[in-house]
Order: sequence, then structure tokens, then C-alpha cells
Amino acid sequence: MFAALTATAVATVLGAVLAAFTPRLVHRLSVEPGSPPRSACERCTRPFPHGRPGWVRPGARCPGCGARLGPRTGTVVALGAAICGLLTAGLTGTDGIDPALPAVLALAVVGLPLALIDLACLRLPDPLLALAAVAVLLGLGGATIVLGTSEPLLRALLAALASAAGYVLLALLPGSRLGFGDVKLAALLGLPLGWFGWPVLLLGLFLPHLINGVVGLALLATGRVGRGSTWAFGPALLAGALFALLLG
Ligand SMILES: [Zn+2]
Repeated sequence: MFAALTATAVATVLGAVLAAFTPRLVHRLSVEPGSPPRSACERCTRPFPHGRPGWVRPGARCPGCGARLGPRTGTVVALGAAICGLLTAGLTGTDGIDPALPAVLALAVVGLPLALIDLACLRLPDPLLALAAVAVLLGLGGATIVLGTSEPLLRALLAALASAAGYVLLALLPGSRLGFGDVKLAALLGLPLGWFGWPVLLLGLFLPHLINGVVGLALLATGRVGRGSTWAFGPALLAGALFALLLG
């Protein structure tokens, strides 16, 4: 019990701190598909520094003019803390911390900026998807060594393939609003969902459509979108996977 509380507290703080470093990244990558990332502040034209400091730094304010660049830091920090804390509480039982928790948390930390970018401009940038894939595979590889059996990892890889195949079919349906970024994200989310078993994968594949349906009805009812409009599906995919991991 004490170990679970400690782990949850540590993950909550870690999630908040890591999320605080993402608003700049979200802002720079929230551009039209095919456009290069933003290279300077739009208000004062001060260019972003080269390398890591230009992408990953705490807070959303431009150091030159103080303009807010990207989502509100407070909102992002609260989301990062809540998601990492909930996942850790959910994946820590009486027998200790689940070996796959680091993989799941790594995916959550990259998933949050992915969702915010998709909300801002309907895209899921490949570099972030690739970073998340590497982090999850390393995490699940480590968990495989800890467990001493490769069965969950094999199931995770099969689940990613199954999820990718299912979403390719959905994306190819006439009138589909899914993009290939959504297909890649669904394949990626298939890894941790499949790791925890086929029922969790099925729940994780079903819930995003439920969430997306509810969000769509709310958007239509409030006049925020019209019939035939497209809105981001990535946040629903990520939220569905989050709830499937917590419920499963
Ligand atoms: Zn500025």
C-alpha cells in the first residue's frame, strides 16, 4: 500500500515536470501538414534556439516578448500529472509495480503533446510517433527481461499488427475521416494494450470510437462543427487506450 502510494506520488510529480517542458514542442509542431516546424516567435520574430533548447524548455512564454507560445502550461502540467498518476495507481497492485509501467508512462509523456498537436492542427507528427515507439519498445523489452518470458511481448507485437490492420481498413472505408497518422498511433497503442491481454486490446480499440462519438455529438450540439466536418481522432485514441489500461 505504502509502495503504491509512493510510486503514484513520484509518477504524478514526474508527469507534471515532464509535461511542463512540452508546450514549446507542441507550438512548433502545430503547423499545416507538409509545412516545416515554426522557427520563430510570431509576435517578436525572435528565432527559436537550435537544438534541444529550441524544442524542450519549461513553460510556454517567449523569452523575448512574453507571448504565450503553445498550450497553457498549467493545463498541460495538470494533464501530465493526472495521467501519469492514474496510470501508476492503476498498474501498481499488492504484488508491486507492473514491469510494463515505464513503457506505459513513456508513451503517456509523448502521447500528451501528440494529442495537443492533433487538436491544434489535425496531425500526428512522425518524429514524435517514432520517439514514442522506440520508448515503448525499449520499456517492454526491459519488462520482458524482468518477467523472464517473451509471451506478453509477442502478444504486444501481434496486437500492434492487428490494430494497424484494423485501422488501415477503417481509414480506407469510403467517407472515413481517419488519417494515416491515426493508423500509426493505433498500431503504437496496440503494443501496451496487447501486452496486458486481448480483452484490454479490444476495449482499447472500441473505446476511442465511443469517446469520438460522444465528442462529435457534443461538438454538433454546440455548433462547434457542422455535418461533414473533421476533428482530431488522436486524442480519442489516446484517451481510449488510457481508460482501457485503467479498466483492464
Ligand atoms: Zn516573442
